[in-house]
Amino acid sequence: MSTCRKWDVSGIDNWKGEEFPRGAVIPSSGNSEEYVTGGWRSERPYRDDAKCTQCLLCWVFCPDSSVKVQDEKVYDFDYDHCKGCGICAHECPSDAIEMVPEGCELPGVK
Ligand code: SF4
Ligand code: SF4
Repeated sequence: MSTCRKWDVSGIDNWKGEEFPRGAVIPSSGNSEEYVTGGWRSERPYRDDAKCTQCLLCWVFCPDSSVKVQDEKVYDFDYDHCKGCGICAHECPSDAIEMVPEGCELPGVK
């Protein structure tokens, strides 16, 4: 788990190169799941099951592995990690995914 650290940047205008602290460091691999990125989102994908043909292209194209698939069928989105980029909606050949504003009350939208 990451820890929050505050930097003392007083006098930064006079710092020399070696005085700048190192930036964020990820000390180990395989921990991207711990970083919840869903809070970056202003829109969320909404999938219309009636239009979806289960071609799985949204799953293929999602850069965040946030399209949930079980038994070779899309059933949900991982809203902890979906950044709302809209690529899944753009690539869906059936127009089954609509990007809706966060907080919008629609049936099926969590
Ligand atoms: S790309 Fe569209 S049609 Fe294909 S599985 Fe995803 S939502 Fe369904
Ligand atoms: S909006 Fe972007 S991050 Fe979210 S499920 Fe679609 S492709 Fe993945």
